[in-house]
Amino acid sequence: MPQDRSKRRGLPPRVLACLYAGLVALPMLVALLSEPGHWQGAMRLATACGIAAAVMVLAQMVTSGRFEAISGRIGIDVTMAFHKWAAPLALLLALMHVLAFIGLPDPDRPGRLARRIDFVLSGPGLWDARIALGLLALLVALALLRDRLPMRYQLWRAGHALGALGLVAALLWHVLSDGPRGMGTALLWVGLALAVCLPAVSVYARRLVRRGAAPWTIAENRHVAERLWLLRLAPPQGAALAFEPGQFAWLAFGAKRLPLHDHPFSIASAPGEDGLRFLIQEAGDFTDGIGALPAGTAVSMDAPHGSFVPRGAGPLILVAGGVGIAPILSILSHLARSGSQRQVRFVYAARSAEAMVPPELYQPACAALGVTPMLVSDRAEDVSELGLLRGPMSAALLEKAMEGLEPSACEVMICGPGVMMTLVADSALEMGVPLSRIDYERFSYGAGPSSVKDRLRLTGFAALLGSVLGLVLLYWLA
Ligand SMILES: Cc1cc2nc3c(=O)[nH]c(=O)nc-3n(C[C@H](O)[C@H](O)[C@H](O)COP(=O)(O)OP(=O)(O)OC[C@H]3O[C@@H](n4cnc5c(N)ncnc54)[C@H](O)[C@@H]3O)c2cc1C
Repeated sequence: MPQDRSKRRGLPPRVLACLYAGLVALPMLVALLSEPGHWQGAMRLATACGIAAAVMVLAQMVTSGRFEAISGRIGIDVTMAFHKWAAPLALLLALMHVLAFIGLPDPDRPGRLARRIDFVLSGPGLWDARIALGLLALLVALALLRDRLPMRYQLWRAGHALGALGLVAALLWHVLSDGPRGMGTALLWVGLALAVCLPAVSVYARRLVRRGAAPWTIAENRHVAERLWLLRLAPPQGAALAFEPGQFAWLAFGAKRLPLHDHPFSIASAPGEDGLRFLIQEAGDFTDGIGALPAGTAVSMDAPHGSFVPRGAGPLILVAGGVGIAPILSILSHLARSGSQRQVRFVYAARSAEAMVPPELYQPACAALGVTPMLVSDRAEDVSELGLLRGPMSAALLEKAMEGLEPSACEVMICGPGVMMTLVADSALEMGVPLSRIDYERFSYGAGPSSVKDRLRLTGFAALLGSVLGLVLLYWLA
């Protein structure tokens, strides 16, 4: 089936993986060339672990989901999942770096082990290393425990960003003062640190510079379903946003318009429509107050982001659950406006009829495309009184949605609660839809049941992180 790859942004996953491994290998190679055969085995291991940990920490700065070159194709959820998996491994390598430096007890040199431990803990000149290791351990621990911390997400995120910058500074100091010597080595590390920090800092700097410019504003804020608000944003005079259907924006409202206050929301309108629409569900500290934002409120926007965009030409199955209807509305509306000839099926599941957006938001596009929406409710009365299908979403409902279609020609796009996305993705795969044409972007980075596609991605992460350990081993034995 023809696939439209022309608009795809971001680097392909294999290129990203090669770049990552190459980044780890480069300083190892430079260290090997600049001080060949200098160290004993344990010190070689310490150096290799230290280099790998340092590069991995630096790379974390650009796997935060803001950079299209990295997440534009693989998606923000995959990027963030990698960010989460790489951090503990970087910490493990940093600890191995310290342990290998201390070394094993040597019967020929009594007292050496105690002297080394004492040097690591309180020796002069290693304060930078202690700060770096302490910060890395703290950042990893706070990230792993985030959902259980009595702390607002925003505060945690601000602390995470500032802690990361402090970590890079301490790490760079340690590498330059205690690592392999030489001008080439120093230039390489400074270059690497700048290459990852400048883009991260520029996200903030750009917004500070743009603060004076006319912002987007809320033109309408309307309650459309249970705990669900429809926001229509008007652009500043003469401006418009070019995006693809299904993409999302980082938004910050009112006086709090710095990136630290950004939240990601899918664009619910189609490219080319007047202004932008968003559907926002009350889900926590910030979104609980979304309904109180008056028309005229200024909005900062970092967009477009995301790769949840239809790419195929065959039958398209759109499955939305709850607020996951937002990007699906954008896609439906885009297909209708562009006069698409694709066969489209549309399933919309919610807890109850009250939690569903009004038909006026999807019915015109469905009518234009000749689509009969399959509306699914978890509540029994909605089935008997309103004639909706009985939820929750199931493999049988997906089969019903795909009736008469050849699964191997279909593209399935899913957006909704994690459990639903896993169920629909795995069911579609079992029915014969190719894995590459099953697409979803998770709203929450938190753990949930993983799908076959998630597990394949995890295997990819494991292979890449395993290759980093392989490089450490190679350096040690070289
Ligand atoms: C790509 C993407 C698209 C999304 N689209 C929509 C949408 O169209 N409509 C909608 O209602 N929701 C959407 N969300 C979810 C939405 O971003 C969160 O519900 C919202 O940020 C919660 O913020 P809060 O302060 O109210 O809740 P909190 O209680 O602060 O957070 C609840 C949880 O939401 C997540 N979260 C909070 N802030 C952020 C943040 N800045 N970045 C990432 N995750 C965060 C965290 O997992 C957190 O534990 C989307 C999320 C992603 C990743």
